[in-house]
Amino acid sequence: MKVMQKQKRIFLSSPHMSGNEQRYIQEAFDLNWIAPLGNNVDGLEKDIAEYNNIRGAAVVVSGTAAIHLALRLLNIGPEDTVFCSSLTFVASANPIFYQGATPVLIDSEMDTWNMSPVALERAFGEARENGKLPKAVILVNLYGQAAKMDELMSICDSYGVPIIEDAAESLGSTYKGKKSGTFGKYGVYSFNGNKIITTSGGGALVSDDEEALKKATFLATQARDKAVHYQHSEVGYNYRMSNIVAGIGRGQMEVLDERVAQKRAVFERYYEAFGNLDGIEFQPELEETMSNRWLTVLTIDPELTGVSRHEIIKRLNEDNIEARPVWKPMHLQPLFEDVKYYPHEEGNSVSDYLFEYGLCLPSGSNMSVEEQERVIEILKGLIKI
Ligand SMILES: *Cc1c(COP(=O)(O)O)cnc(C)c1O
Repeated sequence: MKVMQKQKRIFLSSPHMSGNEQRYIQEAFDLNWIAPLGNNVDGLEKDIAEYNNIRGAAVVVSGTAAIHLALRLLNIGPEDTVFCSSLTFVASANPIFYQGATPVLIDSEMDTWNMSPVALERAFGEARENGKLPKAVILVNLYGQAAKMDELMSICDSYGVPIIEDAAESLGSTYKGKKSGTFGKYGVYSFNGNKIITTSGGGALVSDDEEALKKATFLATQARDKAVHYQHSEVGYNYRMSNIVAGIGRGQMEVLDERVAQKRAVFERYYEAFGNLDGIEFQPELEETMSNRWLTVLTIDPELTGVSRHEIIKRLNEDNIEARPVWKPMHLQPLFEDVKYYPHEEGNSVSDYLFEYGLCLPSGSNMSVEEQERVIEILKGLIKI
């Protein structure tokens, strides 16, 4: 009996190699530079800094590790609070707990789906009244779209509080011509397997403060003091990226702009199919910004489209196609049960709305046009037009 052949799986976003990665890895083998130092690590740091037009980069084992290092560099400890976007992946906020500090969660606004300047201003106002300002603000550029940096930075500047810019999803994006991730005191990129480029796992901390990056590298290699014997005066981590992994990164950096163009083409095809439908709203691209469109995300109004987000995900999955809800906001997570949350306006939580109706569509830069047609046809069958 013939078994029904399952259609090839279509992922949200899967690794897409350039072909040159193995050349860099081979070089590391030829030099026997397999350790967590070496030419590929140096080369990748240079590539990242040059691409983003920033003074320096320190590559580490993950984006999460880079956020953790940024908090350490800002001396954040158990007495401190840190403001953080609520609508994000948990990795943005987990390092606040690593440092024993207290997170305060800030809602999104509808123009970018990122941190609401209105909510941030309210949170700062109350913090000042209570006599305790946060020691940092972690702000996220979701799905590749830059946040309202001018507004957010001007608020943070007026309180003298540094920004850690979580650009894990927005490598390659720009805001007024400047690269996403280069606005805060520190910026963070991720090279996890599903990101726009990947090293299988990895991350980078970037900054114009080269001394601070040296300190980050020191902390990331067990905080070894200068001495022949092993001597340590503060707590360190084993966070350094290996020279092999960095080789993958070098091959990937060569095609980053190509990947951005491919992701944007995926978005355009979805937009062409559904952009004019009542009840479907794509994540906006703010004026004077360019999103890498890491994932194509939209909201579905079940009343107007006749289908719920849940039904769409289920139906696509039956066809071996991965689709997911928008990130579940941190203020709705059990882990953050006791954490203070500032909605966009009293009684209007934008991230709750985006979570309830938001849908991430398969957006791989390596997804063929035919594969995307498969997704679009199923959606057209479900949506009442
Ligand atoms: C992926 C991601 C991270 C963390 O990156 P890892 O490299 O997986 O540790 C942080 N923040 C956001 C918003 C992410 O999407």
